[in-house]
Amino acid sequence: MIPVVAVHGGAGSRRGWRNYDRVRKELEAALDEGVRAIRTGSAVDAVEAAVRYMEDSGIFNAGVGSVLDLKGGLSMDAGIMDGRSRRAGAVAAVEYPRNPVVLARIVMEKTGHIILAGRGADELAKKLSLPRHPGPSERAIKRWKELLEKVREGGNTYYALRYKEAKELGLLDTVGAVAVDADGGTAAAVSTGGVIMKFPGRVGDSPIPGAGFYADRWGAAAATGYGEVIIMSMACLRAVEKLASGSSPSEAAWLTVSSITALFGSGNVGIIVADKYGRVAAARNTEVMPWGYMRPGHRPTIYI
Ligand code: ASP
Repeated sequence: MIPVVAVHGGAGSRRGWRNYDRVRKELEAALDEGVRAIRTGSAVDAVEAAVRYMEDSGIFNAGVGSVLDLKGGLSMDAGIMDGRSRRAGAVAAVEYPRNPVVLARIVMEKTGHIILAGRGADELAKKLSLPRHPGPSERAIKRWKELLEKVREGGNTYYALRYKEAKELGLLDTVGAVAVDADGGTAAAVSTGGVIMKFPGRVGDSPIPGAGFYADRWGAAAATGYGEVIIMSMACLRAVEKLASGSSPSEAAWLTVSSITALFGSGNVGIIVADKYGRVAAARNTEVMPWGYMRPGHRPTIYI
């Protein structure tokens, strides 16, 4: 079995991604981190390392680069799952940790719980002396101010902004990873600042196993897009179940995305899928979803 790590940098519209070179470089670097971790560790180590890198990069909507909610607050979600043990851990609506995926792994491995939300999760991060989030980036504050104007001009409207304008602005650059290690162990992880201008307290798909991420002995999947749609369709469970019934990763990814398009329309989801044999694929119904994969000893392959 040749191990593999795959990552994505969020599904959205072309307008949201102006600096393709930077995105490519950051995805390559995230894959490097993941592959370095998988050489000596497990698929779980790989997805954590890759997602942690993207949380630190500042150019994605996760960790340091997280976008802000309607009130200008930070509220991040992340999840991780070990396909071998089928254990998952997640954090929802946290603002303290720089790397929510690290806290999600701690929830998975050190607590008897699956999802920790809000204050309790932040307190755990503090207690464990995890690195603290530096606060909203300048870019996040600038975007928030611009969009606040639009919300005001529009005489509300959280929903109008989220579904219409956020889509046009391509503000869905969240991150995710899947991996398969040399023993056939699978894992998935995701991390996000959530949908920009979301209602304070809103939790998306990223901390919900089966929705934003999923892994079992057949494979692993990580999704991006409108969390509400991903939750309603249980996108990642859907994809991995298709692997279990004999689909290739490419079929599983496309069948999942097309069934979501049939149910909810297009422009709302992207997914990366790996099966237990280490094959990977991606599908989306949005204009773009930068993603890529890498195996130890090989160059990364990136699709923008
Ligand atoms: N799925 C994330 C959420 O709804 C956003 C994204 O993927 O960009 O919170």
